[in-house]
Amino acid sequence: MDIHEYQAKEILAGFGVPIPRGGLAYSPEQAAYRAREVGGDKWVVKAQVHTGGRGQAGGVKMCTDEHEVLDAANDLFGKRLVTHQTGAAGKVVYRVYVEGAVSIQKEIYLGFVLDRKTERIMVVASADGGMEIEEIAEKRPGSIIRSVVEPAVGVQDFQAREIAFQLGLEPSQIRQAVEVVKGCYMAFRDLDATMVEINPLVVTGDGSLLALDAKMSFDDNAMFRRPDVSELRDKSQEDARETQAADRGLSYVGLEGNIGCIVNGAGLAMATMDMIELAGGSPANFLDIGGGATPERVAKAFRLVMSDKKVEAILVNIFAGINRCDWVAEGIIQALENNPVDVPVIVRLAGTNVEEGRKILSRSGLPVIRAATLEEAAERSVSAWRNNNKHNIKMVASS
Ligand code: GDP
Ligand code: MN
Repeated sequence: MDIHEYQAKEILAGFGVPIPRGGLAYSPEQAAYRAREVGGDKWVVKAQVHTGGRGQAGGVKMCTDEHEVLDAANDLFGKRLVTHQTGAAGKVVYRVYVEGAVSIQKEIYLGFVLDRKTERIMVVASADGGMEIEEIAEKRPGSIIRSVVEPAVGVQDFQAREIAFQLGLEPSQIRQAVEVVKGCYMAFRDLDATMVEINPLVVTGDGSLLALDAKMSFDDNAMFRRPDVSELRDKSQEDARETQAADRGLSYVGLEGNIGCIVNGAGLAMATMDMIELAGGSPANFLDIGGGATPERVAKAFRLVMSDKKVEAILVNIFAGINRCDWVAEGIIQALENNPVDVPVIVRLAGTNVEEGRKILSRSGLPVIRAATLEEAAERSVSAWRNNNKHNIKMVASS
């Protein structure tokens, strides 16, 4: 789960990380009011959307009076910000954050990630901040500092000092840097984060450290025990299809193709997607209905897949171990009887109670295309989609 910059800043400030003065706004008028509240004579108006690269996409605006703040906010609200991370769909701006602007002497990158190799939290830092870490890795790989944290003791002062020295900070800034590094680490550890990033962490004109941007992501599987963090979820920033699925206990990822997939198990889902590609088609989604799928769950999965207008064929591929093919078959019938679909449905069942499942399907008289193997299922899906897709149906209907 991702959160907004202003939320991450508030959390990190609670762990001793210095941040600029700022306030959140839901309207241009409120943004101008926030600028007055913050004080000073320069402000930055920042789009709050779940993506990096806002600066380059016009989502970060410098202002020197209240009218400019109003105009900047006016321009941002409702805008679909497209950055190199969002894809073409972009993210809509519903909140802006107004901060007192600061003069920048130096921009530092400071990140915390889980390093799979060492199975530890790793600090990643660079004196070439401001750019995205991918860009730093490409252009200035030598500037990247990596430091693995020993979980039994956490980030040690000497370790944080070492990072600060390598960043080329002045002796007077070292103590502050140690506080920032330790604060981020504690926020990461105590809140089940998967990523903390301050980019840039700046040295201001007067020589002090300040987090100008902040980003945090959290482990979805730990959110049941972090109600304070879960509350920060902003569904307006998520793929609506994925949010709906998560709310129904299904694991769903929307893709660009036309063949909807209903599968049990992540491994089988990926294999199914590969087989569709191999047969010359393209999957519309990844959907894992999990083990122990009840007829109701299968029916929900159908509704979810059909809500994607791109879907022109549906492949149900179930390998029942914990699942039962007869239940899945009941679910398919329930789904198709309640909400008839205008696309071909291909079903491949294997495993527990498979004979029973097949009988239920053929007794139902529903126009379901059956397949015995995964390969056959993928091929039949692709040819059914080609011969009988919505596009053709529409052309026939209109001629
Ligand atoms: P991002 O593009 O989404 O990562 O958004 P950031 O919050 O990092 O802002 C982009 C850039 O705007 C930063 O790297 C800074 O160079 C600049 N910026 C943001 N706030 C200030 C500020 O208060 N003063 C100055 N001079 N520049 C700022
Ligand atoms: Mn940034």
